[in-house]
Amino acid sequence: MRGLMMETPLLVSSIIRHATLNHGDTEIVSRDASGATHRYTYADAYRRSSQLANALTRAGVREGDTIATMAWNDYRHFEAYYGISGIGAVCHTINPRLFHEQIAYIINHAEDAYVLFDPGFIEMIERHASGCPIVKGWIAMCERNEMPESSLKNLICYEDFIGGEPEHYDWPVLDENSACGLCYTSGTTGDPKGVLYSHRSTVLHAMTSAMPDAMNLSARDTVMPVSSMFHVMAWGLPYSATMVGAKLVLPGPNLDPESLCQLFVEEAVTITAGVPTIWLGLVAHLQKTGARLGSLKRILIGGAACPKSLIAALEDDYGVEVVHAWGMTETSPIGTLNTMKASHAGLTAAERHEIQAKQGRGVFGVEMKIVDDAGVELARDGVAFGDLLVRGPWICSAYHRLGHVETLRDGWLPTGDVATIDADGYMQITDRSKDVIKSGGEWISSIALENLAVGHPAIREAAVIGIPHPKWSERPLLIVVVNQGESVSRDELLGFFDGKVTKWWKPDDVVFVDELPHTATGKLLKAKLRKDYELFGSRA
Ligand code: AMP
Repeated sequence: MRGLMMETPLLVSSIIRHATLNHGDTEIVSRDASGATHRYTYADAYRRSSQLANALTRAGVREGDTIATMAWNDYRHFEAYYGISGIGAVCHTINPRLFHEQIAYIINHAEDAYVLFDPGFIEMIERHASGCPIVKGWIAMCERNEMPESSLKNLICYEDFIGGEPEHYDWPVLDENSACGLCYTSGTTGDPKGVLYSHRSTVLHAMTSAMPDAMNLSARDTVMPVSSMFHVMAWGLPYSATMVGAKLVLPGPNLDPESLCQLFVEEAVTITAGVPTIWLGLVAHLQKTGARLGSLKRILIGGAACPKSLIAALEDDYGVEVVHAWGMTETSPIGTLNTMKASHAGLTAAERHEIQAKQGRGVFGVEMKIVDDAGVELARDGVAFGDLLVRGPWICSAYHRLGHVETLRDGWLPTGDVATIDADGYMQITDRSKDVIKSGGEWISSIALENLAVGHPAIREAAVIGIPHPKWSERPLLIVVVNQGESVSRDELLGFFDGKVTKWWKPDDVVFVDELPHTATGKLLKAKLRKDYELFGSRA
């Protein structure tokens, strides 16, 4: 027997319509590259998204067409999220930090009809335009008088494009399983692969993200995503914050600690989100300058493992709650979030941070399990570790136009991460499967060693890789960047691990470098480090 409830489809257009009806005067504040502030409201954003929708329709864009953006977190990018998806087209966010060849590749692979871009990227666009014959127009997101000098054919000014269009659009009632967004993974090898989000997955993901034991968002919050709108839709915050009617602060391209602190204080930001590197830089800045964080009460940290020392500094010294989160482009991205349970009430701060350094519990909607090489499920005891598999309504089932490539294993997505899960459901990543160090038949977690290393006050960033060893097969090598003006010796640093890890986990050696290589999404490029240092053992 079927239920007799309305089968209202879950659509992205309903999020902004809800916001404008219930929070029409709530602000969206943006900063541009020059530091200038732009302010308007959800009602304004709704009107301009409708104008964009009308302009795209007039330009011949139809349901299922793909429209790209290459832009920072700002109000025009926000309008693109809603204007493009609202008409049933697909908002393809391009990460400008991808390798150049990959940018042309994904524009062609996605068959983008138009590319909306921040004028600051004009040189990059000029370089790729001739290699992207399908693109009908390159739309610079600026006013006419801000248009970049360029001989580019089909260059369009965003404000001219939407100006004069009606401020109302009859959003179509789409199939909720139709695509609304596209984001390519920044693979370090092979071509990037497209993850195609649906209206249904996006709305469900936003609803779940906002819940109290997740990001805990409300109409009384001011939310500032530092996570990029060009990488996994800024962790869904442009949808979830809008859904609850929070004030939104979009920080633009300047993500240095000083600019962030200024926004925290001036805009009374209560919740922010970003990768650990941003917050490591912020804490160093706070320690040096004595700057404060205004009304900030919570930081969501994910994208890479959040070291315990960072959690302790933010919570104990600056009174800001840390929510450690794990996810992937393929998981929209929220998979787990680390919030406490009632049973943790009596813990000391140090005991709490021990738990918070784990990546957290799967939110409702995301099922997780760990398996061994034969695919047999392992114990949820916090000790056994194996390949992490996930499934759920906002987890990718196949890659865009790669339907023939097997993505799932028995209905589960292999994440490529190695993890433990404890009896309370807290998952802890011990490594990417290809980064785990295999020493004498046992596994050593490179992430655990990196987290310990950055706990040393002189260390800014650390990478641990396995290098070939004649007896043990692989041994850990620690590669570090030291804070400016500080120093630490090899022996002192190695001694720092004593008593904190089993003896055989301790790195064999230390290399001091000026900087570490990163991927387009800010993750350590360990494949390059392994190549650079593969002969290190034999040289030593
Ligand atoms: P991406 O698809 O570029 O967002 O990368 C996803 C990958 O980032 C995951 O599979 C993990 O390897 C890594 N990752 C994300 N969040 C965390 C976290 N909190 N701790 C450790 N690794 C993480």
